[in-house]
Amino acid sequence: MNRVQIQQAAEYFCSKWNIQTYKNSSCITCSYSKPIYQSSMKGEGKTESSQFRKLISCPFIIRYGKVEFKRNSKQHNGVYSVYVTSIIAKHTCLMSNSTYRVAKKTSHSSKLNLTEVSTAVNYLKINPHLEARQLRNILKDCIPASFHIDSTFLNNFRRRVAIHHAKHPDSRNLTHDVATHLTKRCNLKTYEIEELEDPIIRNNFRTMYK
Ligand SMILES: [Zn+2]
Repeated sequence: MNRVQIQQAAEYFCSKWNIQTYKNSSCITCSYSKPIYQSSMKGEGKTESSQFRKLISCPFIIRYGKVEFKRNSKQHNGVYSVYVTSIIAKHTCLMSNSTYRVAKKTSHSSKLNLTEVSTAVNYLKINPHLEARQLRNILKDCIPASFHIDSTFLNNFRRRVAIHHAKHPDSRNLTHDVATHLTKRCNLKTYEIEELEDPIIRNNFRTMYK
């Protein structure tokens, strides 16, 4: 099982039980679990949601480790195999409609999640024709909640990502600036489309869709 599969399966299952999951590279917890790492971010620990989390301290956790993960490997693209190391399946949060609504509202940060945007970008490299529904599922976690993901946005995102891959066929990691550019709402500008006139870029582009 890879990291994205386990995260999506857990998220889907938990959502049916009014539980919003919270995930990072080593575990999935309930959004009412105590924050694992003390963030150095300003204001963290003072917000209403993090006080809730400390108060409720829901013990639910699925921990996992990476299988044969090589840091410099070019294979993983953010999608690496994991194995589950421990599970605590108990919840002390209320699992009610209203707590779920609150969790959903507060769990989305107002910033882009770079790791998840990278995952979406890498997915599109492996499969440029990834179904819109799946793409939306990946993107909805990394984009601010206020942002509406419609088909125009998905199309623009696909086109920008395709040009990005054609321009940087070996790039693995996104910078924040690139991620911000790729998730722009507006239609592609003329200069962005004109970049495809460069013969090398155009050639890379053709190879991708072969
Ligand atoms: Zn819980």
